[in-house]
Amino acid sequence: MKRHDYITWEEYFMGIALLSARRSKDPNTQVGACIVNENNIILSTGYNGMPKGCSDDDLPWDRDGDFQDTKYAYVCHAELNAILNSDGRSLADAILYVSLFPCNECAKAIIQAGIKKVIYQEDKYPDCDASEVSRKLFKMAGITLEKFQSTLFENGLTLF
Ligand SMILES: [Zn+2]
Repeated sequence: MKRHDYITWEEYFMGIALLSARRSKDPNTQVGACIVNENNIILSTGYNGMPKGCSDDDLPWDRDGDFQDTKYAYVCHAELNAILNSDGRSLADAILYVSLFPCNECAKAIIQAGIKKVIYQEDKYPDCDASEVSRKLFKMAGITLEKFQSTLFENGLTLF
């Protein structure tokens, strides 16, 4: 008899997004993303971090202060990194799994990459401007939004 308690594709890909988030050096917010095609093949992954070659020891991780002294000026979000890490593979009609609902800047990149569906685990800031703009853009662009339904990662990703 085969096993019946195996994880679903959705749990598998969100699990990979959550594992990717564990690579983040951000002390406050760790976000991970995983992009897959319609054949359940992983095309790319990403997490929030400083641009390549820009030392995450020398750049700030602060949330407050002058713009140049905050992380917001420097950090690449998980979704953008996943898109840019796809190494030339087409992301047309792909599905993006992400641990946190995308901001408006990532929404633009998701749309331009041709991604057709976004499955997110958490929507922590639904009323902030960035989230409202994302929803507006996704709706206009015909991108499907889906809240991740499984209870598997309710308490985060437990490693082994
Ligand atoms: Zn973003």
